[in-house]
Amino acid sequence: MNSTKVSHNNTLSNKVSLPDSRGHFGPYGGSYVPETLFHPLQELESAYFKAKEDSTFTSELSSLLKEFAGRPTELYYAEQLSEKIGGARIFLKREDLLHTGAHKINNALGQALLAKRMGKKRIIAETGAGQHGIATASVCARFGFKCKIYMGAEDMRRQALNVFKMRLSGAEVHGVEAGSKTLKEAINEAMRDWVTNVRSTHYILGSALGAHPYPMMVRDFHKIIGEETKKQFIEKTGNLPNEMIACVGGGSNAIGFFHDFLDETSVKLIGVEAGGRSLEEGEHAARFEGGKLGVLQGCRTWILQNKDGQINQTHSVSAGLDYAAIGPEHAYYRDQGRIDFANASDEDAMEAFKTLSSEEGILPALETSHGLAHAFKRAAELSKDKTICVNLSGRGDKDAMEAARIMGVEGLPKMTFA
Ligand SMILES: *Cc1c(COP(=O)(O)O)cnc(C)c1O
Repeated sequence: MNSTKVSHNNTLSNKVSLPDSRGHFGPYGGSYVPETLFHPLQELESAYFKAKEDSTFTSELSSLLKEFAGRPTELYYAEQLSEKIGGARIFLKREDLLHTGAHKINNALGQALLAKRMGKKRIIAETGAGQHGIATASVCARFGFKCKIYMGAEDMRRQALNVFKMRLSGAEVHGVEAGSKTLKEAINEAMRDWVTNVRSTHYILGSALGAHPYPMMVRDFHKIIGEETKKQFIEKTGNLPNEMIACVGGGSNAIGFFHDFLDETSVKLIGVEAGGRSLEEGEHAARFEGGKLGVLQGCRTWILQNKDGQINQTHSVSAGLDYAAIGPEHAYYRDQGRIDFANASDEDAMEAFKTLSSEEGILPALETSHGLAHAFKRAAELSKDKTICVNLSGRGDKDAMEAARIMGVEGLPKMTFA
């Protein structure tokens, strides 16, 4: 059993506040950008530091998180599911209940409010599957910002309904035709726009990635997930969880969920990457399986690349985990032995998607299903007096059509956009 004490007497020794002043998490992170972005990033960092100490900013953000986004989200004991698996009790942090369907709105709101404070009139963002695009478009409608979303042309084809939703909220969706026409190219294009229009424009980056201060700032806007979880878990069980599990794309939902528990060394923290079709090169997005240290889109971290340093193709059934780099803070805590990493295959994620839907009536996002797949494995290995808390990062409505296609359902409607 856990100790019922949750005071910080279990702290990691030599705990320092990260990142350092230049944005480094040990050997990771930093700011590898063209010279033209150096000052805008500095300006953003200093505006952010000021805002977070200003109670006008923090209280406005709290109200928006509550009234617009739907915080706090519930902590739910999945009793049926736990009984079926027959091991540790499984709890779900319900970020899927947030407005626009995932945790992404926490960060979109925080950055939009910061942009308003900085006097910016225009917002740009990248999106892969469309979840970050939808959160950003929604927040821009709320604030009256002009909004442009960069999206790979291939992703636009795969996620036509999300393109329509962004346009309904008034965003311009720009299809990117370069390279593999997916997320990486969309980020390149967004950065190009930012360099050109930096005076009027703020770039809302969608994960705990990129150049400093983004990994720190995005983490901070998601830290509320773990803070709420800690309080709720103690209220419900009298203890901290034994294990916490979250899926890791860039790493924003996971670092937000884990951050308040880094000092609680009795709690095992596990990030789950996309194991794809197999762990062969090009078939997955598990950066810690076959990745190497390198620099991509502003930061130094683990990256899937070939021997010449060219970025590899990646694959995952879930577009939100399908990216060649992992957030720098995750790389750091992996080295420290504080966060463990696992991966789940496309097939295991699909199974978990079906299991949570049938046992609990909750359709999880396919990204989230990777975390669930690993949690089911861990639960079966642990006794009934143990607890596992999974971050249910998003809902599965957006993936229902893809799941139906994979499951071989016939007569599905088609929708395409350009
Ligand atoms: C975008 C997304 C992810 C992956 O992004 P992170 O930054 O790693 O959290 C995970 N789950 C859902 C539901 C998402 O929309």
